[in-house]
Amino acid sequence: MPSFQPISFDNFFNVIDGKLTSTETTRRSVNPSTLKNNPDVPLSTIEDVDKAVQAAKKAAESWAQVSWEDRKKAVEGFASALEAQIDDFAALITREQGKPFPRAQLEMRTGVEWIREFCQLSLLETVIEDNSTRRISTRYTPLGVVAAIIPWNYPVHPLACGKIAPALLTGNVMILKPSPFTPYSNLKLAELGLQFFPPGVLQALSGDDRLGPWMTEHPDIDKIAFTGSIETGKKVMESCSKTLKRVTLELGGNDPAIVCADVDPAAIPTITGIAFDNAGQICCGIKRLYVHESVYDTVVATLLAVLPHLKLGDGFADGAFIPPLTNVQQFERVRELLSEVERTGLKLIAGSTKPTPGAGKYTGYFVAPTVIDNPPEDSKIVAEEQFGPVIPIIKWTDEEDVIKRANNTRYGLGASVWTQDIAQAERMASKLQAGTVWINSHAELGASYPFGGHKNSGLGVEWGIEGMKSYCNIQTKLVRSSPWDGKS
Ligand code: NAD
Repeated sequence: MPSFQPISFDNFFNVIDGKLTSTETTRRSVNPSTLKNNPDVPLSTIEDVDKAVQAAKKAAESWAQVSWEDRKKAVEGFASALEAQIDDFAALITREQGKPFPRAQLEMRTGVEWIREFCQLSLLETVIEDNSTRRISTRYTPLGVVAAIIPWNYPVHPLACGKIAPALLTGNVMILKPSPFTPYSNLKLAELGLQFFPPGVLQALSGDDRLGPWMTEHPDIDKIAFTGSIETGKKVMESCSKTLKRVTLELGGNDPAIVCADVDPAAIPTITGIAFDNAGQICCGIKRLYVHESVYDTVVATLLAVLPHLKLGDGFADGAFIPPLTNVQQFERVRELLSEVERTGLKLIAGSTKPTPGAGKYTGYFVAPTVIDNPPEDSKIVAEEQFGPVIPIIKWTDEEDVIKRANNTRYGLGASVWTQDIAQAERMASKLQAGTVWINSHAELGASYPFGGHKNSGLGVEWGIEGMKSYCNIQTKLVRSSPWDGKS
């Protein structure tokens, strides 16, 4: 028998101080595949933020005193409850975000696995000096009240699970603020959490664009764990500076993947899959594909052979791989980039500059997978993060030159090198300016190692021991066996 009650997925509430609460006014998002309304969700007011913060402050004091082992038990229980309702959560993700149901199930399964992996990590006391006169050590203490501000592309995992588990394990409490486009699954995470955590430890508030700034400005929130765009990240940092809140910023990327002359041919379908997974809406997806000129034509031929197998469609349709863009803003942004491709006369290898192929066939925000043939470095499709199923494929000949081009950007989230010559790959990867460099892989993430952006792609890291530390103060403890004389 499970030691928890399954939750219902029909109605949606804020979670404040251990209770499900409604608001006078509500809002909703649309299913990006059908453009039909999703259910109503709360539209939080500034008073709701205050109530949640006061409950969080109170809970933070006692939760910090709970032993690591007991916090771990609670987090593990939460993971098991999530595991038992994977399909309910996955269906919600498909309806709010659009990704194919099997990919949403994978998002959930990986979320559960990661929470369990976080539970295996711990922050130990470090002894710096220990002798007959003094003992100096450092330990990690929780920051207190953390607000997690989340975008819409992977609402449960890694965006929410990758914040909740490290924050709660380290003794912090958390208020989740989902994206207004994907509030549903995050509200249900906090609702399920009510069965495992004391009131105020894990709360969630849904709202519109005013909600984030109310949180970043709030004097009683100690840290903002933010994931989103560079532009919003800058506003978050500016706002947090007024109260000296701690802040972690996980921001946008424009990742290069460099394909070398001796690439294993089996890599090309993988690269194509990564570039178009979730319709390109992955922060560390492949967004610029640099291909050595000697294999350019072969890579293009393989890409063209693979693309017809990546079917566009409603996430509940059999065999669909490329979902719609999640919201109208993103759809318009990709549409603008495609107009620019058309206006500047760039050549297409596949796809279309018109966003909805097969008029009448699709109602949602669908864009056909589109590949641009060797565009110039300063074209928008190369220089900007597209966050859509539209990628440039660009020729290179000289190693130093391609590294320079890969690095010539304000972004620095991920980068990859694809070759069978690991020595060459190591040499190239060591010169790439990115938070993560992969060799013969890309966007492969894990709970046990840190992830973050260089340059404008972020500040600080999440995940791994370093990510856990970002939810803590470092406290130094110096103990003398007899009073210090102030001299030695
Ligand atoms: P966004 O910056 O528009 O919104 C992110 C979140 O911030 C949302 O919850 C939004 O409501 C909130 N917000 C908006 N204005 C705010 C303000 N002034 N103060 C506080 N909060 C505010 O980003 P998006 O469009 O939701 O997401 C797409 C972007 O996120 C892309 O650039 C993508 O690369 C990036 N992203 C990065 C990572 C990463 O780990 N580095 C992961 C996923 C997505």
